[in-house]
Amino acid sequence: MFSITPSHILEYLYCPRFTYFEYVLRIPEYQEKFFKVQKGREVHEAKARQNIEYLRRKEGVVAKHINQYLTNEVLRGEVDEVLELDDGTMAPLDYKFAKFEDKIYETYKTQLYCYAWLIEDNFGKRVKKGFLVYIRSQSKLVEVPIEPKHTDLVKQRVEEIREIITTNVYPKATKVKKRCLNCTYRNICTK
Ligand code: SF4
Repeated sequence: MFSITPSHILEYLYCPRFTYFEYVLRIPEYQEKFFKVQKGREVHEAKARQNIEYLRRKEGVVAKHINQYLTNEVLRGEVDEVLELDDGTMAPLDYKFAKFEDKIYETYKTQLYCYAWLIEDNFGKRVKKGFLVYIRSQSKLVEVPIEPKHTDLVKQRVEEIREIITTNVYPKATKVKKRCLNCTYRNICTK
């Protein structure tokens, strides 16, 4: 059965050939940790500190569901928190063991879009935004708007990944050439 995780999508977005080498040729991807969500003691401590009363006042959160492992027909992933909001929508909240640096990385946004898709499929509620908590910036809470075009884009990427895996098509290289410099696959990757 075809089932992928947000990490697979991040790898594909970094370079489509990662998907080919790892999932068609089955060559392990030693940079895996680069795409994995860092979850450790600090995250759990921050979660324990996260105050529902604060979120309730600031963001209209009426309930939260912690560590939700969700799946749909093609995607699977664990959402740190699924929040119920007072307007009847829901929102994913994701902890990052990172500092906030005045911009939100596309990888972080993509993860939230994946979670939004999973939440809508599993809870039957609309998702219009998500939240990131930057643990190394005093657990700064940052809101990320989520529109249907964002989840549609993720769905499109999943279909592109499925195409590579099921048809064994050798995909185009990333256009960002500096990514090749330290790539695990650079010795076997034909330009
Ligand atoms: S060497 Fe460059 S094109 Fe090839 S897999 Fe690595 S990042 Fe992609």
